[in-house]
Amino acid sequence: MNSFNPPIRTLMGPGPSDIHPRVLSAMARPTIGHLDPAFVGMMDEIKVMLKYAFQTENELTMPVSAPGSAGMETCFVNLVEPGDKVIVCINGVFGGRMKENIERFGGIAVVVEDEWGTAVTPAKVEAACAANPDAKIVAFVHAETSTGALSDAKTICEIARKHNCLTIVDAVTSLAGVELRVDAWGIDAIYSGTQKCLSCVPGLSPISFNERALEKVRNRKTKVPSWFMDLNLVMAYWGTGQKRAYHHTAPVNTLYALHESLVMLMEEGLKASWARHAANHQHLKTGIEALGMKFVVPEADRLPQLNSIWIPEGADDAVVRGRLLNEYNLEIGAGLGALAGKVWRIGLMGQSSKPEKVLFCLAALNAVLKN
Ligand SMILES: *Cc1c(COP(=O)(O)O)cnc(C)c1O
Repeated sequence: MNSFNPPIRTLMGPGPSDIHPRVLSAMARPTIGHLDPAFVGMMDEIKVMLKYAFQTENELTMPVSAPGSAGMETCFVNLVEPGDKVIVCINGVFGGRMKENIERFGGIAVVVEDEWGTAVTPAKVEAACAANPDAKIVAFVHAETSTGALSDAKTICEIARKHNCLTIVDAVTSLAGVELRVDAWGIDAIYSGTQKCLSCVPGLSPISFNERALEKVRNRKTKVPSWFMDLNLVMAYWGTGQKRAYHHTAPVNTLYALHESLVMLMEEGLKASWARHAANHQHLKTGIEALGMKFVVPEADRLPQLNSIWIPEGADDAVVRGRLLNEYNLEIGAGLGALAGKVWRIGLMGQSSKPEKVLFCLAALNAVLKN
């Protein structure tokens, strides 16, 4: 056996995105104990910076020590009790996973369906809330990475609040890539991931819960069925003020990486990051249309950081992606679920959202499609 040296790729798929050398070198710093006062101080700084990224004052704002899917599960396992009715919006793969979570934890899922490639229709959420006055939660995906559609989180949360429902929002791909305001929009529980627009390594899931959501967690009739994700226990580890109690060993070096990527986000500024993602999407759009290709999602609902494009007639999906990888060290994403084999997904997330990378992607795609 030899050491593993990965090839140097440009990552323009649905995540992970390219990682800045500052983040990689932060990760290589010496490991210290996870209860070392120096480490605890860094955890507090991560919480402060995550509050900024989420635009929230929520005390419970922290990274779960596992990927985005674990953040999803943390929200559902803590907030859904057996018999709870949950309205879940499905317009792609990740909404379907939410439904799976609800049912595994004994909830009753009421599905609001929208076509893949379109946003969640707020009027359908309103109708579902009106038809199910006993519903306790509304769950939806802000940025559907499987299709590239952006839903109107602010409006959906307003509707949910009016009907006395808590909201669970998937912001794995939206955080730092498009406008997202947890407090101003009244989002009750939210989860994200580190490997998308934060351009950190995979393996962490930032979450935030407000007081309304925590009230529900504290007043559960039954224990949270997952020990690892039980927020009553996790809070004693990530909490503020109180003495840290051992819960699990935090992924020390991965958290150094998150700390550095959040420092970089603060240096750039959140609004500047949103604007950069929007601008590079426009560059890509101009080039894609010049190549004669078409977007899956109607312009008004398009996510700047995840661009689904119909595979042109005559092009072989796997051959093109294989050639991009082998000849250009460029990764773009394949279609998922109902769109498998039909679309490519070009990610412009975090460090991958740069004008020179857009040009490189367009040039490589053009070269491969032309011969
Ligand atoms: C990537 C993604 C997830 C899952 O995150 P993992 O880190 O892969 O577990 C969940 N929801 C959305 C919208 C995503 O894009």
